[in-house]
Amino acid sequence: MARAVLAWLARWLFPARCQGCGRLGPEPLCDACLPRVPLMLLPRCRWCGHWLDPLARGVERCADCRSARADDLLLARSAAPHEGLTRRLVVRLKYHRHQAAAEALGAILRRWLRHDEEAARALPLDSAAALVPVPLHRRRQRWRSFNQARLLAETLAEECGLPVVEALVRVRPTRPQVGLAAAARERNVKGAFAARDECIVSGATYVLVDDVYTSGATLRECARTLRAAGAGQVVAVTVARPIREDLLGLARRWTAEMDRSSDGEGRAL
Ligand SMILES: [Zn+2]
Ligand SMILES: [Zn+2]
Repeated sequence: MARAVLAWLARWLFPARCQGCGRLGPEPLCDACLPRVPLMLLPRCRWCGHWLDPLARGVERCADCRSARADDLLLARSAAPHEGLTRRLVVRLKYHRHQAAAEALGAILRRWLRHDEEAARALPLDSAAALVPVPLHRRRQRWRSFNQARLLAETLAEECGLPVVEALVRVRPTRPQVGLAAAARERNVKGAFAARDECIVSGATYVLVDDVYTSGATLRECARTLRAAGAGQVVAVTVARPIREDLLGLARRWTAEMDRSSDGEGRAL
């Protein structure tokens, strides 16, 4: 009874609002804000999901994957460019500990999965064993009181029906990757994770979930750790990924086109 009264009071004091424009309503992003978020509908590297120059015809892989493909992380895909509202939501979630932002990012993830045919085809979401959130070190998790990757994995789980399994732990605190060069990022996360062996089915496929894909160093190290513990294939999904400024307009245009197309189908890339 007391809990019901408290829940009612909380709803009355803090009514649900759109996380984009602040308008009152039950959806985490309203009908006006959600379609305005550009999705990652760009030609991309078939392995790491890095955007490719739309003018470069016949190119399948980015320069990194052409020179040395990381085997541990089979492939990665991201829902939206790391800019605008998506970026603000990530910042709110990670640095302002604002959990409602996770629901809004979840809405972006769901919309992307329904429309991005290439990503839906590439990701083994129907055959994987589980979604694995990239873990935080317990000290950071205590500060934030939650793991943002876990919240995102839970919203993804609602969409694809996979269980969320915390199969990894961060055994060593690492410096934030922001501002580090690529080689320093690799060194920073080397040996930072351990697998919970009892969570891993030998040979099974796992989907790592994180907020932002920057250099991929963290996700590659997580994948390496899972595979060393017996996992088969490891892929990754993140909600955001930085893209080149001039491609943002294209991502926006193609997202708007996708909405206009009468059948609601995404662009096949
Ligand atoms: Zn809104
Ligand atoms: Zn690549």
